[in-house]
Amino acid sequence: MKIVICASEVVPFAKTGGLADVAGALPLALEEQGQGTIIIMPRYKAIQEAKFKISRLRPDISYSTIGRSIKVYFIENEKYFNRDNLYTDKNGDYPDNLDRFAYYCRRTLELLKEINFKADIIHVHDWQAALIPVYLKTTYTDDPFYKSIKTVLTIHNIGYQGLFPKEEFPKLGLDWSLFDMEKLEFFGKVNLLKAGIVFSDVINTVSPTYSKEIQTKEFGFGLEGILAKRKKYLFGILNGLDYSIWNPETDKFIAVNFSATDLNGKSKDKKDLQKICNLPAKSDIPLFGIVSRLAEQKGFDILAQAIDAICNLNLQLVILGTGDLKYHLLLTDIVKKYPKVISLHLKFDDCLAHKIYAGSDIFLMPSKYEPCGLGQLISLKYGTIPLVFKTGGLADTVNKDNGFIFQQYKKEELIKAIKDALQAFKDRKQWGKLMQNAARCNFSWDESAKGYIQLYEKARQK
Ligand code: ADP
Repeated sequence: MKIVICASEVVPFAKTGGLADVAGALPLALEEQGQGTIIIMPRYKAIQEAKFKISRLRPDISYSTIGRSIKVYFIENEKYFNRDNLYTDKNGDYPDNLDRFAYYCRRTLELLKEINFKADIIHVHDWQAALIPVYLKTTYTDDPFYKSIKTVLTIHNIGYQGLFPKEEFPKLGLDWSLFDMEKLEFFGKVNLLKAGIVFSDVINTVSPTYSKEIQTKEFGFGLEGILAKRKKYLFGILNGLDYSIWNPETDKFIAVNFSATDLNGKSKDKKDLQKICNLPAKSDIPLFGIVSRLAEQKGFDILAQAIDAICNLNLQLVILGTGDLKYHLLLTDIVKKYPKVISLHLKFDDCLAHKIYAGSDIFLMPSKYEPCGLGQLISLKYGTIPLVFKTGGLADTVNKDNGFIFQQYKKEELIKAIKDALQAFKDRKQWGKLMQNAARCNFSWDESAKGYIQLYEKARQK
């Protein structure tokens, strides 16, 4: 198959979140499975020529290569993309985001014709690329070059929809008849993710459970109705994890390497983490780790309510994260009260993240909703037992044989699950078994890529 991956961020070129990990890793896995894949993304300021071996194709198109021979095409536009950040600056969202990403979508389709790439599938990700299926089925419908192309839309987090005022609709160059509540309109605004949902051949999210949850009022962020209408074409495929980066056997950041078959080195990583974090270096105290955006979505509302009770249990807690100011302040206050229990790091720090995944006994991830989640997949690989709320990708990857799960999103339930984990930690033999079960889990990209290939086949049959 000939596949085009369209995403506004792709590892290693630009990243603000999990979308970039997926858009970077999926093409590599597809290439391994013999699929012909190219990537098209905007060229931001940070994508520098020397760093990424970039060559020029046209005055406004450059390219690089990843994997064996995956071409990554960059759409350049001085006004729209030559900026420090991807979507926001200190004042919030860039005011011209609709113009920027509508331009990206149109230029992408033109480029395919210019390079004569006769795609079977265009796989678009999130709202930034969601206009591509719309243009294909409207503006480009009479052009034979595009006739047989099918589209797949992946929703990485339905909380981010690309909403713009109605007044901006004419900039899309589409007929006003599309500004309709069955199509692009959403309570008087333009909704680009909704546009993608309506016009794509097939839709998926990043875990089977999340694909069901988003069809409910509780998790659908207002799009549950339109999704329910497209239920027949809505699927869930779990993200994979890049084991070339996240592997305790080869991890360069951690004090001692270890493997699923021999987890012995892990206790030294715990000691190292305790030392770095200024916590008493005791092996018998369970060490909990958190690596997360500090946001309500990640469970910080119930965690904040439960924190006093948690700190009075026999445990240690390392927190690494940045996010909402509210939680920065709250956690800073709490640390003053429990300096021997909590070690707080309000920053983005890849090295410390690796050390936390390796050195903790338990990884705390009580997300309120979680499309897929990478933290629990990483912690499993490092034999660090995840403790999660039963939602989305967490429900699909954590079970009683490899972790702890609570079923109601309440602080009491969270505390109870932590107490259960503390109790289990005392039985060293059982705990060792749990660690082995965790470390043996396999969430590689190979499996996910096979799922996507099946999805592409479904789209082609449509
Ligand atoms: P998100 O919804 O934020 O994308 P995921 O669990 O899918 O959540 O992925 C988050 C990724 O970002 C993980 O690889 C995690 O280790 C990393 N991460 C989050 N916060 C930090 C931080 N402060 N420092 C280092 N890495 C972080």
